Amino acid sequence: MPQPFRLAGREEYPADLVVEVSGLRFGGSDLIVIAGPCSVEGEETYLRSAKMIKAGGANMLRGGAFKPRTSPYSFQGLGREGLRILAAARKETGLPVVTEVLDVRDLDAVAEVADLLQVGARSMQNFPLLKELGRMRKPVLLKRGLCATVEEWLLAAEYILLAGNPRVVLCERGQRQDRASQRCALDLAALPLVRRLSRLPLIVDPSHAAGDRSQVGPLAQAAVEAGAHGLLIEVHENPEAALSDSAQSLHLDEFRALIGRLSTQAAGLGRKLARPVS
Ligand code: PEP
Ligand code: MN
Repeated sequence: MPQPFRLAGREEYPADLVVEVSGLRFGGSDLIVIAGPCSVEGEETYLRSAKMIKAGGANMLRGGAFKPRTSPYSFQGLGREGLRILAAARKETGLPVVTEVLDVRDLDAVAEVADLLQVGARSMQNFPLLKELGRMRKPVLLKRGLCATVEEWLLAAEYILLAGNPRVVLCERGQRQDRASQRCALDLAALPLVRRLSRLPLIVDPSHAAGDRSQVGPLAQAAVEAGAHGLLIEVHENPEAALSDSAQSLHLDEFRALIGRLSTQAAGLGRKLARPVS
């Protein structure tokens, strides 16, 4: 049976697709590390963290301005003010930024600032959003839904590709499961499967999969072993005080130590960490 995802698949286009994001190449041999707090919480703290995260070896910054929260009473992000802060951090550090677009009505504003437009797990099947992203000139980071099959995920990517945007990067971020000790379960087995089925670059978010910082490093390393092209890691200058995802955010020294381990690991695999842009 032919693959239902013609553009995302390998049947017609067998070679790996390399997606360029402001000088970084996703899908090649370099391992790309994106890091930053879950949410942009304020200018001073974000800029300070961004500089330390860059010094720690990250290639790209993350931070949510529009947050998809389970409870409507939780911090929802700073919205447009958060975008302004991300733009300032980008300018100050020279690092590209990724941030989530939750609502199609914010797409132009987010695209003005973001180098990579993130579709969150909860939006993976927001088809109007996927179609609009297909009309954009900016690359898209497509997270896998909390309970989505690999086929559903690749078909979501297909929506963006079919609408005309050839630059899609996939991100596995853990699947819903019922063990109380973990927030989600990182689907490591999906990594070689997706690499075989799809030509798109694939990164892993061990933070949302773990829900607990002690698991983030081991999962990040396992993901690299299983074929991830990059990692998306939550790091906070004071995780205990973070306004979202406090328990899974790494301290800066933990992040620096992990970068050291990843660098040794990458060398063993004949790969290397991408050099920070600027
Ligand atoms: C995030 O990366 O900030 C996020 C909300 O992740 P997910 O959509 O994977 O839950
Ligand atoms: Mn988060």
